[in-house]
Amino acid sequence: MRSADPAEVARADEVIAGIAPPSGPTFPVHDPATGELIAEVADHDVDAALAAVERAEAAGRAWARTSARTRADVLLAWYDQLTAHTDDLAALITREMGKPLAESLTEVRYGTDFVRWYSEEASRPGGTYRELPAGGADVLVRRAPVGLSVLITPWNFPLAMATRKIAPALAAGCPVVIKPAELTPLTTMYAVMLAEQIGVPEGLINVVTTSSPSSFSEAVLRDPRVRKVSFTGSTEVGRVLLNLASHNVLRTSMELGGNAAVLVFDDADLDRAVAGTFQAKMRNGGQSCIAANRIFVQDTIHDAFVERLTDAMASVVVGNGFAPGVGLGPLIDDRAVDSMVRLVADAYERGAEVRTGGAPLPGGGYFFEPTVLTDVPADALVAATEIFGPVAAVQRFSTEDEAIARANATEFGLAGYVFTQNLDRALNVADRLETGLVGINQGVPSNAAAPFGGVKQSGVGREGSGEGLEEYQEVRFYNIARRGTA
Ligand code: NAD
Repeated sequence: MRSADPAEVARADEVIAGIAPPSGPTFPVHDPATGELIAEVADHDVDAALAAVERAEAAGRAWARTSARTRADVLLAWYDQLTAHTDDLAALITREMGKPLAESLTEVRYGTDFVRWYSEEASRPGGTYRELPAGGADVLVRRAPVGLSVLITPWNFPLAMATRKIAPALAAGCPVVIKPAELTPLTTMYAVMLAEQIGVPEGLINVVTTSSPSSFSEAVLRDPRVRKVSFTGSTEVGRVLLNLASHNVLRTSMELGGNAAVLVFDDADLDRAVAGTFQAKMRNGGQSCIAANRIFVQDTIHDAFVERLTDAMASVVVGNGFAPGVGLGPLIDDRAVDSMVRLVADAYERGAEVRTGGAPLPGGGYFFEPTVLTDVPADALVAATEIFGPVAAVQRFSTEDEAIARANATEFGLAGYVFTQNLDRALNVADRLETGLVGINQGVPSNAAAPFGGVKQSGVGREGSGEGLEEYQEVRFYNIARRGTA
């Protein structure tokens, strides 16, 4: 295992030192690579959360009346400021979340792209004009901001999950209260501090850090000033929030858990299929909601595919995300490592073969070996639950119909992947997968310009693209009576 470059760690700690120190009660933030305490952040109680709602509501009234151009300019200035601090943001992400620095840089590009994209989209406000078929009136359809939006984000992409909610909310004219994950609050705090530096109106973006997320949501989602909740996280917590949202009939966007199937057909380009599957599995150390969870390979190419995937996984360098050349950092915490141990043991007991890896790594942080399991039975835990770690679980299939049926045999429906060189097959299989998105011959389908989101128990609503903006807008119409038109 490689250890950290001290200069990079020092850079991250300098960034942390620049974030305003908390007053009052705090909770700790740790580096998952070492278990070391890296910061204490404010542990806001319900009163502080409601004060943030108050500030947001006051700022939101003026923001809703700003011109589209003003909103676009503010977002563009924030984008420029974020990209000017790319290295600081990347260092912070690696320090609090653990991913290798190169991946943190990729997250900064991905995360800031939402801000740029919505700065562009903000300047093209939607709306239509329609003549009624019978005449006598015209209908003007307008889009109004939905109002005060509460945003709750997970730890796996501390910047991107925040920006893909904040940017469309601001573009639409909504003020926000954002509650980052308690494991990784620093990146959001820093990104919002950069927004304040470029003059985003006071009170428009409010960060509430807390070690008690349920008290936060119980109080805030029942407040009548709140009109929307957007959540990214587990399906379990999503259900709790949907229940809470029902009290005041809030608009909801829910980006929840996944159980992505990868389908590798015998007519796939094997190099692309292995590279794409590897990326879909190992991006973010497997801690992604669209990570390759069940890898189905057609039996005629199964052995060749497994051999190559195993070679690729076995050659990943594991270590501190600040060490040069590292491809896999730590998992987020000890529970995540325990979960990998349990999933691998269960699969092994049910007859799966461990081709490489399979064990935690010693040394202070939360490390687990890149692992390949084959002959995974469908009833193994690893096939039925979201793995959220560097374990590739491979199963065989014979026919297209069988592969699709098995891929769809889950309550989740976020992402799917298809590898084949036959265009008809690619599109036909993609059509039959019950998911919100499909990667065709590629392992990283997300993009700021694409409508990301799930079907079934993977969620409701979309993030990114024009559809992501609509999540923060209400559609209204004015029926304008016209004399002499009918
Ligand atoms: P989590 O559900 O435990 O936590 C997510 C967020 O919810 C955190 O900020 C947490 O503090 C907060 N939270 C927990 N209980 C809450 C409550 N009662 N009220 C309000 N907030 C509460 O999920 P996690 O472990 O941080 O993230 C991993 C999960 O997120 C996985 O299931 C993954 O698939 C999912 N995820 C989905 C997407 C997507 O776009 N669909 C993206 C990333 C992650």
